[in-house]
Amino acid sequence: MRMPVIAANWKMYKTIDEANTFLSEFVPRVSNVSYAEIIISPPFLALPTVCKTCQSTRISVAGQNIHWASDGASTGEISAKMLRAVGANHVIIGHSERRRLFGESDGVIAKKVRAAIGENLKPILCIGETLEEQESGKALEVLQRQLENSLTSFTSAELTNLVVAYEPIWAIGTGHTATPDHAQSAHAYIRECLSILVGVQTSAECRIIYGGSVKPVNAKEILSQPDVDGALVGGASLNPESFEEIITGTQP
Ligand code: PEP
Repeated sequence: MRMPVIAANWKMYKTIDEANTFLSEFVPRVSNVSYAEIIISPPFLALPTVCKTCQSTRISVAGQNIHWASDGASTGEISAKMLRAVGANHVIIGHSERRRLFGESDGVIAKKVRAAIGENLKPILCIGETLEEQESGKALEVLQRQLENSLTSFTSAELTNLVVAYEPIWAIGTGHTATPDHAQSAHAYIRECLSILVGVQTSAECRIIYGGSVKPVNAKEILSQPDVDGALVGGASLNPESFEEIITGTQP
């Protein structure tokens, strides 16, 4: 039985004060939720305060990115070691905005997954196809390639805590959510690829979550698909009420 994961990706939104205001409303709202793992991924500057507040709750905290080295001359970067030291336990790797805006390749993403695992940070690996790839029938090929290129050098044991986020790029921040059937078939395919890459058991235990315009109004239907084990939520996670609605509204 896979425990669902509902993760917020705040992207470059919320100052420290705004993060604190969110938490003061959100934490009491979800204090009784035990069916799912809740994760908040704030911008780096708000990480210490979010980690401190969430320490006494069931909410986990993720970074939105890491560098692959543990330290060094990389101006503007943050390492897995630093995230761990501040109290984060997960990290988003390979978000499509990182791939598109900052040129992150699958090779770089593989190095970041390695760095995360080395520091005991649980990777949330994002994969997904563009609209063009979807329309030309190449979506599954793209998903397979992204998984293979990012995960081939790992043992099954190393990937026990991996979470894969399927985020079709055409659905992110656009309001065009994938249909539940589309999400299910993509997730089933990802699980099939994982079983070849990391073994049947690790693949069966791996949480594969969906991201792309998840809102309170569509979350339940998507998350009720057998291979959809939760959601990565951008826009709708910025508001404590709508994020809570997604979490409580998808409780079986
Ligand atoms: C995301 O950024 O990972 C995301 C899924 O965003 P949104 O929910 O706004 O589409």
